[in-house]
Amino acid sequence: MRYLVISDIHGNLEAFKAVLKASKKDRFDKVIFLGDVVGYGADPSKVCKLLKEISPICVMGNHDASVLNPKLLSWFNPYARFALEWTAEHLTENCKNYMREFPEKTKLDDMLIVHSNPYKPQSWEYILSRLDALFYFQKTSEKVILFGHTHIPVVYEYNPESENAASVSPVGREIQLDIENMRYMLNPGSVGQPRDNDPRAAYGILDTDKWTFTVKRVDYDIEKAAQKIIEAGLPQFLAHRLYTGE
Ligand code: ZN
Repeated sequence: MRYLVISDIHGNLEAFKAVLKASKKDRFDKVIFLGDVVGYGADPSKVCKLLKEISPICVMGNHDASVLNPKLLSWFNPYARFALEWTAEHLTENCKNYMREFPEKTKLDDMLIVHSNPYKPQSWEYILSRLDALFYFQKTSEKVILFGHTHIPVVYEYNPESENAASVSPVGREIQLDIENMRYMLNPGSVGQPRDNDPRAAYGILDTDKWTFTVKRVDYDIEKAAQKIIEAGLPQFLAHRLYTGE
């Protein structure tokens, strides 16, 4: 199977459309979405509707969960909280009902799919380093774990023999996974709000026949997405950061 693996769209319709258009040439069979449909961006309902149309395997993101349950808002910084309150007001009931069905994690053969981390998904703790990854490898047993949340594309490889982990960037190159001997955590980066200093939208292609993973980048109309954020009355910072990918 070939999977389009996407995460953290965050209400950015322009970025999402660009990813769907560009990834057509990658001829995937199915979409895996790692959470955070909404938050930050100005098009939560349109993004949600488009996501539903491509019927992906989904998990719940922290922004998604907070739009559905305002008690969780205290977790966020003031910018994110403001955007989430705005999103809760503007998101259609249809979308909310669709998102309520998202599980906190899901399994696909020997792959585990989560938003933040595979051990306590709803703690929303980040996996930001090789050492973080090592901790979570030792708390789990699946061969492959797909995660998002950090908005940074990465491959972590765990060697069960040496009990050590290494990291490598999958951006712009195909990483061959040694599925017989190693275990992996894969992050495709963010569609709608990249934070690795590359403002282009990111998406992953995972081939489970050849066991390869690659992350591709695609230009999109940042100007339009940023303008919509400002026109909606959302914090300007959320528009400006799209230009730098921070
Ligand atoms: Zn996110």
